[in-house]
Amino acid sequence: MRQHVQTAKNRLYLASLSMALLFVVSLLLGSVPAYAAGDDEAALAEQSKEAFLQLQTGKRIAGEERSYETPEQPTVYLTFDDGPSKLTDQVLDILDEKGVKATFFAIGVQAKEYPKQLKRIVDSGHALGNHTYNHVYNELYSDFQTFWDQVQKTENIFDELVGVRPQLVRAPGGTATNFDAYYYYLMDQAGYMMEDWNVDSGDSKRAGVPASEIWQTVKASPLSHEINILFHDGTGHDNTVKVLPQVIDYYRNLGYSFATLTTKVKPKQFGLSKIKWNRGMSLTHFTKLYGETKAYAAEHSQPGLVEETPAPPKEEPIKVIAMQSEEESTVPLNIQLPGQEGFAFDPTLYRMHANRIELPLRTLVEKIGGQVAWQPDTKTATAHYGIYDIAYHLQTRSMELFKLGQPLATYAMADMDMRNNQIIVPLRKTIDSLGGRIMSARIESDRREVALSLRPYYFYNEPADSILQNSLFALVN
Ligand SMILES: [Zn+2]
Repeated sequence: MRQHVQTAKNRLYLASLSMALLFVVSLLLGSVPAYAAGDDEAALAEQSKEAFLQLQTGKRIAGEERSYETPEQPTVYLTFDDGPSKLTDQVLDILDEKGVKATFFAIGVQAKEYPKQLKRIVDSGHALGNHTYNHVYNELYSDFQTFWDQVQKTENIFDELVGVRPQLVRAPGGTATNFDAYYYYLMDQAGYMMEDWNVDSGDSKRAGVPASEIWQTVKASPLSHEINILFHDGTGHDNTVKVLPQVIDYYRNLGYSFATLTTKVKPKQFGLSKIKWNRGMSLTHFTKLYGETKAYAAEHSQPGLVEETPAPPKEEPIKVIAMQSEEESTVPLNIQLPGQEGFAFDPTLYRMHANRIELPLRTLVEKIGGQVAWQPDTKTATAHYGIYDIAYHLQTRSMELFKLGQPLATYAMADMDMRNNQIIVPLRKTIDSLGGRIMSARIESDRREVALSLRPYYFYNEPADSILQNSLFALVN
């Protein structure tokens, strides 16, 4: 104890000595670079304090602006946490067999134990994410310092073993109830992207969840354009391996593609919630962490991150804005049909979603004088028009065409959605499914026009009246 006090005293002495020295040096050197460095430090402390005061209110500070890309195809991002493990090879075999790439959020301790599997993950073209060093909740969430240190330690292990420094991090247990505004801010400042999920396979609900239960959970989960699904790769998760081929087939049959998570994929994040940990943050500690995370970002330039260059004082900084996943329409959408009068959709009746046009089925059909019948038990909307019926099955995300009651064709339509009791269908995808084409599209802020080619292949041999063709075609868009 005495020794400790003595050391502290020595430190204090040294600190005041060096401060005095710095002062003398500053006086001697005037405004040469050595002095400017002091200025930077003061500026850093000021920035840190400003951030600290904002974060103290509990609200998140918007981080670096990134640009994201939304895939044209509906996409599933399979993610496997907690590995590598003795099961990793089996998981990788299945992925190889199915020709699917996935993302592995690996743990530092596990990587040291299964370096071969870690290497195989990377060599096979899967993405590697950071899932901390030991996954122990009450260490990771007692203080950001521990979380930060574990991410760094794990990253160094990955770098040593496979030469990868993942920018994607998944918080053990997810960010909900674990991450506060400080955690989000500091991770963001360091250049990392936090990845939660939007579908939980439920494979870690408790020990030994049966394969049938995981399967039911996956099937009952909502479908969206981009699905980030949580699985586990580790002891006790043999059933995840068992159900995996079935899950891949399921999404594939619905029309989904598979891809790895990247910094270009907009991350799923739960957002702020009341945390279940009792922890505090002092300004002194925050300033230290602020410096560390900033230094890390400077040292490891992160692709995908908008470069942080000090903006020239009088110029407008260039802004890269994340792609809006949903956009309120403000101008009408004009549909042009060759040889027929087109019509317009009021801004409230359609929307832009990830650069796609989505329209409510019922409004569209009624506009052209058809009818829609809704069967709530099977969640099927059937549009009647002339001799044609089109059934939209919401449960299976598929579309069935009938002519005079005889089935013509069935298409997968993963993008189908239900909103405000309306079935919403994407324009281009629907046209493509039917062999038609969008001839031209003007999607500008003040003008939206789409011209359709209305010659779907299954009409080629039909002497059908052209107005019927056009109208029917409009109906399924
Ligand atoms: Zn985990």
